[in-house]
Amino acid sequence: PLVLGIETSCDETGVGIVRGRTLLANAIASSMDEHARYGGVVPEVAARAHLESMTPMIGAALAEAGVSLEDLDAIAVTSGPGLSGALMVGVGSAKALALALDKPLYAVNHLVGHVGVDVLGEEGHLEYPTIALLVSGGHTSLLLVRDLVSDVELLGETIDDAAGEAFDKVARILGLPYPGGPHIDRLAAQGDPKAIRFPRGLTLPKDMAAHRYDFSFSGLKTSVARWVEKKQDAGEEVPINDVAASFREAVADVLIGKAIAACTDLGVPRLLLGGGVVANARVRSLAEERTSAAGIALRIPPLDLCTDNGAMIAALGAQLVMHGHDPSGPDFGADSTLPVTDIQVH
Ligand code: ATP
Ligand code: MG
Ligand code: FE
Repeated sequence: PLVLGIETSCDETGVGIVRGRTLLANAIASSMDEHARYGGVVPEVAARAHLESMTPMIGAALAEAGVSLEDLDAIAVTSGPGLSGALMVGVGSAKALALALDKPLYAVNHLVGHVGVDVLGEEGHLEYPTIALLVSGGHTSLLLVRDLVSDVELLGETIDDAAGEAFDKVARILGLPYPGGPHIDRLAAQGDPKAIRFPRGLTLPKDMAAHRYDFSFSGLKTSVARWVEKKQDAGEEVPINDVAASFREAVADVLIGKAIAACTDLGVPRLLLGGGVVANARVRSLAEERTSAAGIALRIPPLDLCTDNGAMIAALGAQLVMHGHDPSGPDFGADSTLPVTDIQVH
């Protein structure tokens, strides 16, 4: 089926088009630059940018795919989780399109979309079950995917900051611009990851975590802040490259450590990565080292499909169509806290 997918959960206005498992178009506009002066995504600014970018991105995707709106078999849209105002723009646009064109509409889960993008892989996709680690500015989630369209379980998530958020906050402590993840990654390459032993894992008592594989990054961030302050108070120069390298090592160690533990504990020999933090060089290399040592198949989609995009939503929508799922009704809305178990909203 020819499916157009719309994604507006955060700061990317994404419109993608797929035919079954084949990617035809992936048009993306980002309002990242507009948020830079605030040091984080401002919901109202993101929603307004989506309004401005939606029509141009739909046009760009159709042109890239070489198809017209009438050719579409279905439309898919992110219903949640994400920023309410931002999600509403996508949901409203998708409903208007579906109604005007009289096409079936599938309201889907953003997080499951990050997993669904895997079906667009040129060498085929991972078999099920698979473990998925999704790490971005807004989420840090570990999922057990038994079946993409019918059975996704949350194994763990962050109880405070998302991994990308931690990168951005530590970057700020080090005086680097937003978004700080890429800057830390670059400086870390010149530093010693063993220079400072920053804490791993949950700093809160274990029972405060709701899930077995929950993450926490706020303690790590505070620990970096304290270490830097101490140096400054002592009038010493902060070895910024070593701090970046040691911090990056701690985050990568925690993320990949828990993902591998889940694979091993649950006997699942497949791991999929998604989200913007996958751009991180150490997260990638550690994932490669540890999965190959443990005999786990690793899949890292191309980076433009790891960050938020419309193609992943179209891909998940196409899977729902191909598995005979009914379209969503007319009454669904934007759900900022949609649980990952709700793959489709009816
Ligand atoms: P969402 O959470 O809704 O998926 P988002 O816009 O918050 O979306 P992404 O666009 O997927 O997240 O990723 C952006 C985040 O990834 C930022 O926090 C950024 O600092 C981080 N990031 C990007 N590149 C790197 C890198 N090389 N190393 C570490 N973090 C990075
Ligand atoms: Mg983004
Ligand atoms: Fe995302």
